Amino acid sequence: MAITIEINHAKTRAKAAAAAGLPVVPQAVRGPIRRIKWAILLLTLSIYYVTPFVRWDRGPNAPDQAVLLDFANGRLYAFFVEIWPQDLYLVTGLLVLASTVLILTNALAGRLWCGFACPQTVWTDLFLLVERVIEGGRRQRLKNFGAPLTPKRAVQSAAKHTAWLLISLATGGTLIFYFTDAPDLLRDLAAGNFSANALTWIAVFTGTTYGLAGFAREQVCTFMCPWPRLQGAIWDPEAYTVNYRDYRGEQRTSAKKAAELRLRGETAGDCVDCGQCVAVCPIGIDIREGPNFACINCGLCVDACDGVMAKLGRPRGLIDYESWANIERGRSNESPRNRLLRPKTVGLTAACLALAGTIGVGFAMRTTLTLSVQHDRDPVAVRLSDGSLRNAYTVKLLNKSASPHRYTLSVSGIDARLSIVGSDGIAPIEVAADASESLRVTLTAAGAEQKDVVFTVRDEAGNTLSATDRFVER
Ligand code: SF4
Ligand code: SF4
Repeated sequence: MAITIEINHAKTRAKAAAAAGLPVVPQAVRGPIRRIKWAILLLTLSIYYVTPFVRWDRGPNAPDQAVLLDFANGRLYAFFVEIWPQDLYLVTGLLVLASTVLILTNALAGRLWCGFACPQTVWTDLFLLVERVIEGGRRQRLKNFGAPLTPKRAVQSAAKHTAWLLISLATGGTLIFYFTDAPDLLRDLAAGNFSANALTWIAVFTGTTYGLAGFAREQVCTFMCPWPRLQGAIWDPEAYTVNYRDYRGEQRTSAKKAAELRLRGETAGDCVDCGQCVAVCPIGIDIREGPNFACINCGLCVDACDGVMAKLGRPRGLIDYESWANIERGRSNESPRNRLLRPKTVGLTAACLALAGTIGVGFAMRTTLTLSVQHDRDPVAVRLSDGSLRNAYTVKLLNKSASPHRYTLSVSGIDARLSIVGSDGIAPIEVAADASESLRVTLTAAGAEQKDVVFTVRDEAGNTLSATDRFVER
């Protein structure tokens, strides 16, 4: 089956609206999808605002904030997980996994993330709710454009911007709680005891929230976000994206005319051209013109059209989560096919599982001790007066646990004397909790051999960790 796609770039529409001085003013809508979106909005905002205040006991020498990005000490804490700079490969793995999940979601149901859980969508929704409550519905807000400023409107506008700024301040303020102990910082802020650094970041994040959610809104989703640009490469005709069943909706006509046509036994399209689907769209798209890369798949037009169909006594689903391939099948009277399970989605699911498994194993196999060995470069070897050969190394021990440990160092793979510079023989080395120790170590061998040497550290409990380096002649 040939797949065609009409792309009415939201860009053209947005430019036309901007030229006319009219922003997109979405209308409120009721329906099951809108309810799901409200629930997700509540959930995601609650998680965002509450998380910095959740405590997590990690013992006496560690912070008790459940989620903390401690840049000063180079740590990232997330509940029972503690990431050190040495573990950043795991964070990279998680980012790759998140991207793969996003691509899989795109193959199954398009831009679901954008429409339901993206912070830009969530905060814009919240700002629109505030605007609607204070300034009235879409019709009233559209009437306000270009109208003279009355005292009532000035008060409404001041109230709206004050509310937006308060939300932005709460959002910007909360973000910095993720970087330091939240209750302490909150107490400092309440006592007026804040640093210029904290104030600067609060101001930056407050301004960004206010600007992006209050003014830029759909422009972010259409022009600033890279995701719609990627749609050209990853758009999938079998994905359940929001589409208009044109084979059912056309020819559009008024409700009255459609009823007359049906009474006469003639066919009439279900679309009554009421414009509700366009009025509720937060991006300003007319989905009846075909798939649009700027569509965030939020489904609000589905709710709007289902409401119209219910009033007209027609079946729901004129606009629906439906694959574009099925729309094309519908046009030629073929039955719709569910192709959620196909090589691409199976492959992506397998890739996600493999990545998650690898990351899980990586986490599980992490030790609280890191050992690294670096051979001296200049000179690489020294011949002593008694004819023996000496190589020197820098051995670094990193104790990532919350308590101090004593480690003994040994070497195997060579018949050589090991000594730690500045230490009494090879006595156990004490490394404080959450700290590292750098040792100068020499190996002196009677013979002149080139071979691999294995350095091993052992803690009090008998756990060992090894690192291999080379003993060289020159
Ligand atoms: S809401 Fe439904 S009936 Fe109204 S214009 Fe959109 S598609 Fe047509
Ligand atoms: S066209 Fe429909 S699904 Fe797409 S952004 Fe607009 S309202 Fe949301």
